[in-house]
Amino acid sequence: MNATHELAILSQARPRCAQITVAGCTAHCFTDYAEFRGAGLKPQAFIIKSEDPAYVGQVLRRLRRDPDHATALAFVDGRYDEADRSVCDGPLPTSSGALLERIEQTRSRAQAMRARNDDRSADSLLLEYMWLRPDCVLEPLADWRHPRRYRYPMLEALDRSDSDPDAILQRLDKRGLIERVALRDRQRECDHCGSAQLNFIDVCPNCRSIEVDQHAALHCFNCGLIAPEERFVHGDQRQCPKCGNRLRHIGSDYDRPLETNVCHSCDHVFVEGEVEARCAVCRHTSATTRLRLRKIHSWRLSGLGCLAAQGVAAGPGPTLFEPRQFLPYPQFVGSLEWSLKLVNEGSFNFALVGLHLENLEQLRGALGAGRTADLLEACTERLRESLGEADLATHADQDTVFLLLPNADRKRLSALHHTVRDLARQAMQEEGGGPAWRLAEHGVSQRNARGESARSLLQQLRDGLGSAERAVA
Ligand SMILES: [Zn+2]
Ligand SMILES: [Zn+2]
Ligand SMILES: [Zn+2]
Repeated sequence: MNATHELAILSQARPRCAQITVAGCTAHCFTDYAEFRGAGLKPQAFIIKSEDPAYVGQVLRRLRRDPDHATALAFVDGRYDEADRSVCDGPLPTSSGALLERIEQTRSRAQAMRARNDDRSADSLLLEYMWLRPDCVLEPLADWRHPRRYRYPMLEALDRSDSDPDAILQRLDKRGLIERVALRDRQRECDHCGSAQLNFIDVCPNCRSIEVDQHAALHCFNCGLIAPEERFVHGDQRQCPKCGNRLRHIGSDYDRPLETNVCHSCDHVFVEGEVEARCAVCRHTSATTRLRLRKIHSWRLSGLGCLAAQGVAAGPGPTLFEPRQFLPYPQFVGSLEWSLKLVNEGSFNFALVGLHLENLEQLRGALGAGRTADLLEACTERLRESLGEADLATHADQDTVFLLLPNADRKRLSALHHTVRDLARQAMQEEGGGPAWRLAEHGVSQRNARGESARSLLQQLRDGLGSAERAVA
């Protein structure tokens, strides 16, 4: 084994010396992560040494959020929290041979990542992290303190932008870079905020009061009244409080009905209450049929993901031209750049159109996140159908769509305005609300295109849409 490996030891107790030899490796000692960063080292593995889980957790989080070392091997010599189990590489191997073997294995897998680009987003770090650890499985962790109950601590640790971990997994899954290992749970979530902290409660089907109880009821055959048994008690006899009939024999005068629940607010008796879900996070009440079903899986890298982690065939795979498709944003910017070149050579012009949804938050407030997503997807699909074969489209963010329409004239643009107005009308909901879009357009021809770049054009369009505060990514 080669003795040139370097280790970084982060120890809560001030180490006796700054540099020691461990398992034939040179180990540099530090008390915290900032001190380690100051030294400018590139160690093959980290050892975090402390009996205090809070210290271990804090160092691990600093390490995983540092794009330079995020995917490095990190062993713990001491104690750590359950949630940090998947954020580290477990306890320090008991023998130096085992430690060196792990370092060698990681080193050779790192060497295979020759063609890797310098993308340090959470998506790409997760692929790299999993590639460096064969058999790595991303497991969900149930955490009652978390609004969505299930977390992927590793993913949270790698993501410096605090975006939705679920969105990252969905994106990687869609690109075929990760695959499901096992279904760990199914849970119902609030349609408004996605929380799994729900209380299921029986309510009166008549007045929706929660003051409902089980009771013994009687059913008068003479007049049909069904009421709690105590209302029939008349001295030591039974008499119907409505028609006054004496109830002597069960089966001929009266019987015991199936309606064994009673509401104390409206006296309604019923067989089964209705169940409502009340969200502990946003306090919204919804019918159980409106809850979102979420399946919680464990994940591993797919074959395509292994290639992507090594930098082979990175990106969304082969990109054949498909008519009327929504391109990934960077590809759209590339096509726009190319179109500008064509314009400068003459005989080609195009229109760039921006569509901005102005009321996403209000829609989510009124319809819930799930229905809003369904509604917008349906609108996008109809918009796509209205495009011409050579038109290009992209989602720049969740509420902005850009269209590139080659050789679009006035007629084409006014038809588009018409389509968007129709979309808004068709998408109007019973509750009276619906999506509201703002449109901005920019005709590009040889006359006005000189020196324009794709990004500056898109920014101008965003300014026109009133979403200037967001810089173009
Ligand atoms: Zn009631
Ligand atoms: Zn009666
Ligand atoms: Zn909620």
